[in-house]
Amino acid sequence: MSTSLAEGLKAYRDRDLESLLERKKLHLVLDLDHTLIHSREKTKLTLGDKQLILNPNLTLPEILNGTYLVKLRPGVDVFLRKVSTMFDLSIFTMGSENYAKLIKNLLEDFDNGVQFREVLSREDCQVSKKKTLDMFLSHERVVVIVDDTDHVWMNSSHNEANLVKIAPYNFFTSRGVSNPCSKLEGVDVQFLYQSMDEELARVLAILRSVHDGFYGGLDCVDRDVRQVLKLVRECEEHKRGGREGGEEVNARKGKRSYEASFDQPMDSSAAAKRYKACNNVIDLRLRHMLRILMP
Ligand SMILES: [Mg+2]
Repeated sequence: MSTSLAEGLKAYRDRDLESLLERKKLHLVLDLDHTLIHSREKTKLTLGDKQLILNPNLTLPEILNGTYLVKLRPGVDVFLRKVSTMFDLSIFTMGSENYAKLIKNLLEDFDNGVQFREVLSREDCQVSKKKTLDMFLSHERVVVIVDDTDHVWMNSSHNEANLVKIAPYNFFTSRGVSNPCSKLEGVDVQFLYQSMDEELARVLAILRSVHDGFYGGLDCVDRDVRQVLKLVRECEEHKRGGREGGEEVNARKGKRSYEASFDQPMDSSAAAKRYKACNNVIDLRLRHMLRILMP
């Protein structure tokens, strides 16, 4: 990169940083496939998929002249609405440019208040099948990534430090894995599947902690989301360890509203205690970190 181009880019990113800090926002780069949506070429639908999409409660928009069906991940509208109050939103997909634009429009139309500022596709990859934050117009220290695939971000810039990995969302039969709901009869598939997939709610809680950690305290000018995320990630590990210790979630039993789960990720008393204990860990460490970062 020429010096003048590098300087111009830095100046742009400096202005972006100023704008983000002024608006108390960060920049969130979102993957599409298996993160926010699952799409499938119509000619590749399995018998199980065909049975599944007969459900009259399902809405499956069609794109690319009707050749693809798109299933939005349960809760994607709530997720995008809530993260857009804390982050500027961008997209980076391994799909084509045309595909990326169509999905962007679909997500924006689905919720009028949500807008994406930068949309990158595989045509923008400098190295084949590798994503990098180098292409975005923000400094890396204010960017968080949400993607179901981590190896695409393992690059020379170590962008995996900015990554929140989300479990892949599979609606259609995928890589030999079929939608568990396709085997159930007489069940409201939409309701059950929403109850089963709470990944966006889990990730939202992490993003909220990162945002709060970044903007907590007096001076955030020198703060770095990678440091905040490292601590939040440790807390998430701690929580996961606790959950694997014996708590089971029964999707059929859960009666709380799905949307409420975005505000209160766990509602049983045991889980609530664990969550509170974990938050205390975050708070203590964040205070410690803030002291280090304070000039
Ligand atoms: Mg993906």
